Amino acid sequence: MPLPLLPPLPFSRSRCDLLRAVLLGLWLAILATPLAAVAFPTLPRLAITQGSPEVARETQEIERMDPALFRPGLELTGLDDAGPPIAVLVAPENSAAARAVPSWVSGYADGAAGAVVLLPQRVGRYPYGSLEALAEHEVAHVLIARAAGGRPVPRWFDEGMAMAASRGQDLEDQARVALAVLMDGRVTLQDLDASFHGSRPDVQVAYALAGDFVADLLRRHGSTAGAGILAQIARGASFENAFATEIGEPLAVVEASYWKRRTFWNRWVPILSSTATLWTGVTLLALVAFRRRSARDAALRARWEAEENAEAIARAARESEDGEDPEDVEGGESPDEELVN
Ligand SMILES: [Zn+2]
Repeated sequence: MPLPLLPPLPFSRSRCDLLRAVLLGLWLAILATPLAAVAFPTLPRLAITQGSPEVARETQEIERMDPALFRPGLELTGLDDAGPPIAVLVAPENSAAARAVPSWVSGYADGAAGAVVLLPQRVGRYPYGSLEALAEHEVAHVLIARAAGGRPVPRWFDEGMAMAASRGQDLEDQARVALAVLMDGRVTLQDLDASFHGSRPDVQVAYALAGDFVADLLRRHGSTAGAGILAQIARGASFENAFATEIGEPLAVVEASYWKRRTFWNRWVPILSSTATLWTGVTLLALVAFRRRSARDAALRARWEAEENAEAIARAARESEDGEDPEDVEGGESPDEELVN
C-alpha cells in the first residue's frame, strides 16, 4: 500500500522508499550547504532616523523601500548575511550632517560604523538621480566595508563597486567618460583616488571613470570578481595581491588594457550615434540658431535707434534752418519690414 500522503508510484514499495530516502537526503544536503545561504541571503536591515520634520516625506520614502533593492549590493560584495542593522540618518539641508560636507555631496557612509547619511534636498546631482539610488549606493559602501572585514580598499574601487550596486551605466556616465578621455587622456587609478578630494568637476570625472573601470572589470571577469577581491582582503591580503590573485593579472596590466580600449573613437562613436545624442544635438543647434537670431535682432534694433536719433537731430536742424516738413524726411524700408526679414 502506498503511503496516504504520496500518490502511488510506478515502482515497487522498496524502490519507492529508496526514492523518498534519496529525496530527503538531497533536501537535507541542500539545507546544510552554503548554497542555501547564497539562495536566501539576509538582506540589509535599516535603522532609519528622521533628522527633522522637513524631511518626513523622504524618510517615509526610505522606510518604504523594498529590501530587495539592496540585493545587488549584497551579491556584488559576496556577503551571505548583510550583518547588523545599518543606521540611516535622513538629514535636512540646515543640519550639522549637511554642513559637514561640501554642498554638492548628497550622501555619505561610514563603513566601519555601519552608518549612512542621506541629504535628500541635494538629490538629483550626478551621480545619483534619485533618493532610492542614493540609499542603495551608500548602503553598498557599508556592505563593501563589511565584506572587506573592515580593511581599507582604494577609493576608486569602493566607489566603482557602490555605483555597480546601485545603478546601471547611463548615457551621462558614458559622455562623462568620453569627455574625460578627450580632455585628460589617460588618468591613473592612483590619480583618480586623489580626484575624489578635488573640486566638484574633478569628483564627477572620478565617479564616472571609477564606475566605468569597475563595470568593465565585472563585465570581463564576471560579476563575482569584486566579491572575490573583497574576500581575500578580509583574509589579510593587500588590495594589489587580492586583485592579481582573483583577476589573474596584476592591476597595472588590467589598467593599461582598459585605457587601450578607452580610446577617443571607442567611446565617442557609440555616443554620437545614439538617438539621445541626435536629439541633444538638434536641441543644441536650435539653441545656437535662436541665440544668433536674437543677437542679430538686437544689433538691428540698436542700429535703428542710432539712425532714428541721427535723423531726429538732422530733422531738428533742418526745421530750425528752413522749416521743411518733417514727414518728408522719413523714407526707405520700414524698420518693421527689416525685422521680419
Ligand atoms: Zn560613494
